[in-house]
Amino acid sequence: MEQTIVAIHAHPDDIEFLAAGTLAGISRGGGRVILASMTAGDCGTVSQDPNEISQIRVREAANSAALVGARYYCLGFKDMAIFSDDASRRRITEFLRAVRPTIVVTSSPEDYMADHEATAVLVRDACFAAALPNYETRHQTPATPLPEIPALYFMDPIGGVDRNQKPVIPDFIVDIEESFDLKIAMLMEHKSQKEWLRVRHGIENYVSIMQKWTRERGALAGIRIGEGFRQYRGHPYPLDERFQDLVRKHIHIPLALRHSGDDVLRPASDAPAQPAMTPGEEPQPVAGEPISLTEDTSAPTRS
Ligand SMILES: [Zn+2]
Repeated sequence: MEQTIVAIHAHPDDIEFLAAGTLAGISRGGGRVILASMTAGDCGTVSQDPNEISQIRVREAANSAALVGARYYCLGFKDMAIFSDDASRRRITEFLRAVRPTIVVTSSPEDYMADHEATAVLVRDACFAAALPNYETRHQTPATPLPEIPALYFMDPIGGVDRNQKPVIPDFIVDIEESFDLKIAMLMEHKSQKEWLRVRHGIENYVSIMQKWTRERGALAGIRIGEGFRQYRGHPYPLDERFQDLVRKHIHIPLALRHSGDDVLRPASDAPAQPAMTPGEEPQPVAGEPISLTEDTSAPTRS
C-alpha cells in the first residue's frame, strides 16, 4: 500500500529541526510527503508586524518543502493561540480528510511550549475524528471522511525533554546521514529566524544548534546523527509499523531501550503511554472561518 505522510507541527520551522531529515529521505525516494504548520509564525519577530512576518515565514516554509518535492500548507492558527476546541478540531479534521494521510507525524504531547503540546492533542483527536462518517467539519465543500484512522507518530520534544527536564526517549531513531545536507538546506530557508533567534533566544547560529541537537539524538542510539520518533499506541489507532517500514534500513533503537543483543523495535508495552497527539498561499484564515486548504504553488520548484 502506498503511504501518504502528513507532518504537522506548530510553527514554520519546527519540522526542519525535528524530522526533516527523515521526511526528506522518504520524499526523495519517491514517497508522498506533505508538510504543514499550524501557524504562520506571526510572533517570531521583534521588528515586523504579524501580517508581514507571516507572509515571509509561509514563503520560507514553502521554499523549504519545495527543496524535497513536498507540498506545504499553513493551517491558519495564530502563535500562542492553538487550543483543543471544537472549531480547531474540525479544522484539522477537514485538512486531514483533504490530504488523506495514511501516516501522520506530529509534535510531542510533552514539550516546553504550549503550541507544541496543543498541536499534538488536536492532531491526535482529529486523526480519530477524520474517520468518523457522521463527524461534520462544517466546511463549505467538505472532503470525504477517511476510510480509517491514520497511524500516528510523535516527533521529539524540543531539547528531548518534558517541562520537568525529564528525558523523553523515542521508540526509534532514524539515521539521517544520507539526507542531512537536505535538512540543513531546508532549515536555512527560514532566513527570517536567524535574527529572531539571535535577539530573543541568544542563539547565534540556529543551524549549528540543529546540528548539535541531531548529533545528540543520534548518540542515543550510538550513531552519528539521527531523528527520534514515537508511535502512538492508544486504541483504536493502527499499531502496524508502516512508518518504520518506510525507513527500516535506517532505524536504530535507543541504547536505553535495547534488550541484550537485540535490535528489534520495542513492543508497545514498553513505550511510555502518551496522552495525545496534530497549506500556504493564504497565511492565516481567522480561527472559525472555513479553512483554506490552498496549496502553495508559487514556491520555486527545485530539483
Ligand atoms: Zn515551534
